[in-house]
Amino acid sequence: MKILVVNAGSSSLKYQLFDMDTNAAIAKGNCERIGIDGVVTHKCPGKPDYKTEAAFPDHRAAIECVLKLLTDKELGVIGSVDEISAVGHRFAHGGEKLRASAALGADEIKYLESIVGLNPLHGPPAISGFKACKEVMPNINHVGVFDTSYYSDMEEKAYIYPIPYELYEDYRIRRYGFHGTSHRYVAAKAAELLGNKNAKIVTCHLGNGSSITATVNGKAIDTSMGFTPQDGVPMGTRSGAIDPTVVTYIQKVKNVGAEEADAILNKKSGLLGVSGVSSDCRDVSEAAENGNARAKLALDILVHNIKKIIGSYVAEMNGVDALVFTAGIGENDRELRAAVCKDMSWLGIEMDENVNATCPRGEIADVSAKGAKVKTYVIPTNEEYMIALDTLNLTK
Ligand code: ADP
Repeated sequence: MKILVVNAGSSSLKYQLFDMDTNAAIAKGNCERIGIDGVVTHKCPGKPDYKTEAAFPDHRAAIECVLKLLTDKELGVIGSVDEISAVGHRFAHGGEKLRASAALGADEIKYLESIVGLNPLHGPPAISGFKACKEVMPNINHVGVFDTSYYSDMEEKAYIYPIPYELYEDYRIRRYGFHGTSHRYVAAKAAELLGNKNAKIVTCHLGNGSSITATVNGKAIDTSMGFTPQDGVPMGTRSGAIDPTVVTYIQKVKNVGAEEADAILNKKSGLLGVSGVSSDCRDVSEAAENGNARAKLALDILVHNIKKIIGSYVAEMNGVDALVFTAGIGENDRELRAAVCKDMSWLGIEMDENVNATCPRGEIADVSAKGAKVKTYVIPTNEEYMIALDTLNLTK
């Protein structure tokens, strides 16, 4: 069975086609600059990579271009569009009602449209991407997979903010959590490696956007991102958690409105804001190695905050069986992983620095020291596969 996974953004449409008999992606690519000038990349294992300019004014033209490539005699991997059994769509936000992956019918779309205010950047393009795919492939199942749904079982004490309760009742202001599909995937892998589906696991998804999640018995009990993906650890350009009064104080002293204050904390903070060098962890690390004190400070702040959140989750769970690193920084930055795990032996977290320094990239690695009470793993994330799997399960 072939499942197409679609991740539609405001100016891009990423896709992967999975063969669920072999659990492998047989084609993937990205239509970029939708509505501008259009570039498409398309990759299939065993074939040369393909990249070309292609005008797509909207998501519909982009998905038509994808289907043409997938069925192309030379570049394609399927004989006809009919071989696609279902489409899985990534949504960053499923609100409070879409508590699990679901077949997308009129009610689900109406609900998603009603919550775009909670998710103004990702919501509208994801809905538009779905509608385009539905128009082009009307007779197959379309499934929505929501980053927030992994957090649906969190207790009220973990998601209600200590602000006037009416703000929750009237505006649904609460912790939602994000990156749930990634945390769900790597936490399940860790539980499998431990041979314990009831395990207590802390997963660190560290990329351009970063979040940390605590999972017990396969369910998330807490997570560092909140009402928006701005909360938690510092990120490429986002501050992560800060004293909320800083926002109103910035507005006063800089005489700026809410939008500009928001842009400072969302686009000019984090690694970029502190280092003044870059939002990319590799550039910041290189600058730190070359003696740039602010770049070193930016990384120290990141490590400090990751440790703080891990510690708080161990306290919440009354222990931890595994610590997992994933995403761009978590999978690749060996120094950062070592810095996070340093001086954590009291919690039972001890790393084999040699294994950590030499484990192959792109593969699962157990980087814990021999005999460590807590397992430390590097697990490459695969959100697209998780979306394909949910889509398969809701289509069978
Ligand atoms: P996104 O959140 O956009 O999906 P990624 O998960 O791809 O981001 O992570 C991007 C981050 O990963 C960047 O800060 C980048 O510097 C970092 N990264 C990627 N490769 C490496 C590497 N080899 N060493 C250190 N950091 C890396």
